[in-house]
Amino acid sequence: MDTKNKAVIIGGGIAGLSVAFWLDKAGWESVIIERAQTIRGGGFLIGLTGLGYESAKHMDLVDPLNKVSYDLNENVMKTSSGSEIVRLKYTDAHGLESIALQRGDLAKTLAEAVPESATIRLGRTMANFVDNRDSVNVTLDNGETLKCDLLIGADGIHSHVRTQLFKDMDTTPLADLGYSFAVYDVEGDPETELEASCVSYTRPGHLDCFYRLRDRRIAVLHMWRDEFPKLEVLRNENGKAAYERLHAIAAGGHPKIREFVNRSEAAGAPILVDTMTMVKMPTWSQGRVTLLGDAAHCLTLMSGQGAAMAMASAEILGRELKNSNNDVVAALAAHDKCLRPAILRLQDHSTNLAAAYIPRNAFIYHLRNWMIRLIPYSWLISWHSEKIKAENELTKL
Ligand SMILES: Cc1cc2nc3c(=O)[nH]c(=O)nc-3n(C[C@H](O)[C@H](O)[C@H](O)COP(=O)(O)OP(=O)(O)OC[C@H]3O[C@@H](n4cnc5c(N)ncnc54)[C@H](O)[C@@H]3O)c2cc1C
Repeated sequence: MDTKNKAVIIGGGIAGLSVAFWLDKAGWESVIIERAQTIRGGGFLIGLTGLGYESAKHMDLVDPLNKVSYDLNENVMKTSSGSEIVRLKYTDAHGLESIALQRGDLAKTLAEAVPESATIRLGRTMANFVDNRDSVNVTLDNGETLKCDLLIGADGIHSHVRTQLFKDMDTTPLADLGYSFAVYDVEGDPETELEASCVSYTRPGHLDCFYRLRDRRIAVLHMWRDEFPKLEVLRNENGKAAYERLHAIAAGGHPKIREFVNRSEAAGAPILVDTMTMVKMPTWSQGRVTLLGDAAHCLTLMSGQGAAMAMASAEILGRELKNSNNDVVAALAAHDKCLRPAILRLQDHSTNLAAAYIPRNAFIYHLRNWMIRLIPYSWLISWHSEKIKAENELTKL
């Protein structure tokens, strides 16, 4: 007789794929329900540091992740007229363990590590669920019902599981930072078009970053303050509307920014446009249903720790389930207690970072640039190292 506990995981992203790995270590089986038709590589660039890097070590994934990583060793920051503010060589910084890679490549590597006890079902979503206290019935979009001991909502910032689980919550869990972003990549010649592995242009209320990728691709990240029309609905609009807004955002910036928006539009490249919105929940679970990763506690891209904390959270959940003697509710409470302090620190930090990276007005912007230019390089680089170390300290459990 099969006595293994079973979990249904909605979302085959960083959190969902990681938790399937750790559930296996706890002796559980799982089914991952992923809306997309494939677990695709590529995507926007992320840095895996701190607890996420540690988790990758525990999963024995550092070598495979390094194989798909990028060496983002230099960052040149310029004004919108093209004059250089600073050139930071990260190799001069006191090294902390980290891996720069595309989000999709991290997801693909995690998918390859998913154990036999887990099944990934692509092109499916959840319709609804019923928590019966001793089990959960999860109905899929094709009408099929899966019975499980735990339902995990790892379906990202716009989580469907969260909406259903906390439908009676009287406050919104969404907290806007007051900024939006767009990410895409385009064909180009990274070596000749970008003078360093990362080139960024800054002006009041805006930061536009370009990164060298492999295979003649260049990754683009635009970030801006929300005095421009908010873009949260854009993902539901057609590409034309998204590009109209992006042209407005690029206007007034360095010509390169306009050129890349044009190039992306001409190629019909997929773009992701969203607001920087944190998810702040007083609790992440109810009964036998829990949220994981961005669904529970999106930190926004500002923190640089969202994927890392999704992986760490998955590992902690696996550990607590293993130690819980089959008391799922107690394991979920222990997971929340262990992780929450670090999440709260990182969310505070994200709010402060946004204002520093993207100064809101011309006075603060010019003051910041003047200070960066005045400070000796060795101070700047040691400040940078200390800042990263301090950020990693925030993730300590
Ligand atoms: C531009 C940018 C830069 C970033 N930089 C960093 C960084 O440097 N370092 C870092 O650690 N983090 C970074 N992050 C954050 C990081 O990408 C996220 O925190 C991380 O991807 C969260 O993982 P997740 O699994 O919770 O959600 P996701 O990765 O969003 O995965 C959710 C999954 O659920 C699926 N899904 C959604 N809805 C449904 C549904 N109804 N049914 C079934 N499946 C569904 C989606 O298709 C997706 O596969 C960055 C984010 C952005 C946008």
